[in-house]
Amino acid sequence: MGDRGPQGAVTRLAVADASAHMLARLTPLDAERVSLSSARGRVLAGEVRSTVALPPWDNSSMDGFAVRAQDIRGASSDRPVKLRVIETIAAGERGVRVVGAGEASRIMTGAPVPEGADSVVRVEDTDGGAATVQVRDDRDAARNIRPRGEDVMPWRAVFAPGTLLGPSQIGVLSSIGVAYPVVVRRPRVAVLATGDELVPVEQFARVESGERIVSSNSYSLEAAVDAAGGEPVSLGIAPDDPRGLAECLRGAEGCDMVVTSGGVSVGDFDYTRTVVEALGGTLSLWRVRMRPGAPVGFGSVFGIPWLGLPGNPVSALVTFELFGRPIVRTLGGHRRPHRRAIEVVTAEPIRLAAPLTHFMRVVLEDAPSGPPVARLTGAQSSGMLTSMGAADALLVVPPEPLDVAAGTVLRAIPLDGDLGGSEVLAV
Ligand code: AMP
Ligand code: MG
Repeated sequence: MGDRGPQGAVTRLAVADASAHMLARLTPLDAERVSLSSARGRVLAGEVRSTVALPPWDNSSMDGFAVRAQDIRGASSDRPVKLRVIETIAAGERGVRVVGAGEASRIMTGAPVPEGADSVVRVEDTDGGAATVQVRDDRDAARNIRPRGEDVMPWRAVFAPGTLLGPSQIGVLSSIGVAYPVVVRRPRVAVLATGDELVPVEQFARVESGERIVSSNSYSLEAAVDAAGGEPVSLGIAPDDPRGLAECLRGAEGCDMVVTSGGVSVGDFDYTRTVVEALGGTLSLWRVRMRPGAPVGFGSVFGIPWLGLPGNPVSALVTFELFGRPIVRTLGGHRRPHRRAIEVVTAEPIRLAAPLTHFMRVVLEDAPSGPPVARLTGAQSSGMLTSMGAADALLVVPPEPLDVAAGTVLRAIPLDGDLGGSEVLAV
């Protein structure tokens, strides 16, 4: 769907279609090598294969005695089996003796299983003897050996391109010798606020004197870029005049993406769209069927994607969440750029003022059973940034019906990675 709007842009798309439109026009950035200590949160640019088997040898999963299963079958505390201990093998050592009939090698966890043995009897099932050992149970016959290559086989693909590197992936990379994984470069994202009413927080005295407001979008959006895995590049605050705006926007040259806030609506001083075009850029999408945040623009300028967000602080953050974060992540090589939505139950009746997809700020409460309950953080005005600060998630209310009863199952988009957090460790 969607009509043609100004400058030939597709306009009034539904939220998912608008995001798909944007992501379809991106390609991931080029790759670089990073050390494992700075790899967390990065994304693999290519496939990773192992050159070695893991574990590299058949090894013991217990402290105990390496034996032949046939020797210990039938062992019990009443009828223990007595074996001769021929050597001790510590982790990091390799046994030199072959375990023969009636023999055992004392062995530590992780140590290579000696030739001849096919079982490791845990030490608790023995008398722990030194020269000879008595085995009192046969439950470990043919057990407690981790075979070579059980975890990783040589030349097998271990990770696909697009894998996000967290603690466990970094551990695996180290164990297969990848000290400098090849990852997608972090997108450098220029952030520009627009508006004659705005000052940086350093000029707070002008807020106190009643002349100006702080450009909170500068700070919230730069933090959101960082949280999305990008590297924010601050372009400061542009004035509401085309020449000054163009000058500020030029600072985005050489970055991988530019995000502007404000000035994309239909007000007398909303110049962002026309300035993008004057600089040789294009507008390919304008306005999305959502609230808050309808006047969203997307296109390109200086050969990089441009995302034009509305100026209202809540609208700016909600639209960055829905459109900006997936763009940053797609540029950064992620295969799953969106947050996973969860099912929630509404705590109160909701009435929509217009048939648009609404993103309402909610707190999630655990329910005794079933999905969490989503309670509105209070007034939902798009100017009220505190309503966003209090929220765990964005409740997605579809355009119809306009009246949603309490107890309705809807979807919500958690605003951080751990689904809003939980008071208990649910393990
Ligand atoms: P605009 O989209 O430029 O019409 O701005 C809409 C509203 O958001 C106005 O009340 C602006 O003062 C406010 N606003 C715009 N940019 C910012 C910003 N960077 N920080 C805080 N508020 C802003
Ligand atoms: Mg403005």
